[in-house]
Amino acid sequence: MQVSKSNKLANVCYDIRGPVLRHAKRLEEEGHRILKLNIGNPAPFGFEAPEEILQDVIHNLPTAQGYSDSKGLFSARKAIMHYTQTKNIPNVGIEDIYLGNGVSELIVMAMQGLLNNGDEVLIPAPDYPLWTAAVSLSGGKPVHYLCDEQSDWYPDIEDIRSKITSNTRALVLINPNNPTGAVYSRDMLEQLAAIAREHNLLVLADEIYDKILYDGTEHESFAAVAPDLLCLTFNGLSKSYRVAGFRSGWMIISGPKHKAQSYIEGIDILASMRLCANVPSQHAIQTALGGYQSINDLILPGGRLLEQRDAAWEMLNDIPGVSCTKPKGALYLFPRLDPKMYPIHNDEKMVLDLLLQEKILVVQGTAFNWPWPDHFRIVSLPRKDDLEVAIGRIANFLHGYRQ
Ligand code: PLP
Repeated sequence: MQVSKSNKLANVCYDIRGPVLRHAKRLEEEGHRILKLNIGNPAPFGFEAPEEILQDVIHNLPTAQGYSDSKGLFSARKAIMHYTQTKNIPNVGIEDIYLGNGVSELIVMAMQGLLNNGDEVLIPAPDYPLWTAAVSLSGGKPVHYLCDEQSDWYPDIEDIRSKITSNTRALVLINPNNPTGAVYSRDMLEQLAAIAREHNLLVLADEIYDKILYDGTEHESFAAVAPDLLCLTFNGLSKSYRVAGFRSGWMIISGPKHKAQSYIEGIDILASMRLCANVPSQHAIQTALGGYQSINDLILPGGRLLEQRDAAWEMLNDIPGVSCTKPKGALYLFPRLDPKMYPIHNDEKMVLDLLLQEKILVVQGTAFNWPWPDHFRIVSLPRKDDLEVAIGRIANFLHGYRQ
């Protein structure tokens, strides 16, 4: 008997961990060393979590053996509640906060609870592709709005407006953005809020990189700029506290919650069905949010993340026909390959060729739902020496790929 995947998965893909990664694993099994610039996972690049977080999880392990409340431990949610106050998000109570096994689980939950077949959700292009996948899995239709590389990768407001239909239910923003590194100004957030207000859209704001900011850039939460709008804000420990493997994230509901009682009931059902998030990791949240914010040592002048971002950005822009907007936040660079010099029709093939020839693993731009095969993404996590080797090999490869 043949067993097939369900129709629900027909349009679901997550190509960051797609076919090219399988080739990379095969090459590794054959004994090749692959320089991996494909996944935003800080720990393997020597970014250790703050010691106090590890110690607190170890200390609490004996008392973390049972399930917790489905929404999460009171102490963790209380710490997140305080965090919302520092971000100027008003009127968030303990009951408005849900903990999850990473932001990933909560993104899927938020979409499963919201969408009926055919409902449309506006998602940025490029995006972090889990958003698109979660909408498709939930029976919805992802509708991508363009972000404009010429304008620091800011959302194209006119493009958003042109894509709103009577089926549009929600607007997703990823700020700071993966993969572009854009961080939105208050003015941009206000323009997005005006659209949501006009068309009665739920806003889902993925702010997982809100502490990874460069060059004095400040981050404002969408929910703080538009407290009159119903908003779900997503954040977690994976990036800013370098514990991606702990799978610890949260979701905050803010704004006029009385207009969303039924949706909130749905979220509660979904949260109950998975019983609770990993409990030992929930213990990390209070310590992380209340403790020493060691991420600052990495992003301020002299910090490793800042130096690596600068080095990668300069080296990429030195390659003929490659241009890259300087990321203001997050852990990625999303360079453009001039199509006149590099007439690429299939960027997944280009990335595979790069892997096979130079043993460098990056992700093709179309994996982020970017509509043209002229970008790729690298992470700025490797040490400067490794970045130099990797980008040197990318330059070498591109030289051979030239028209
Ligand atoms: N949102 C964005 C924008 C991300 O880049 C990632 C991970 O790369 C996630 C969410 C998922 O994070 P988590 O580890 O909390 O599931």
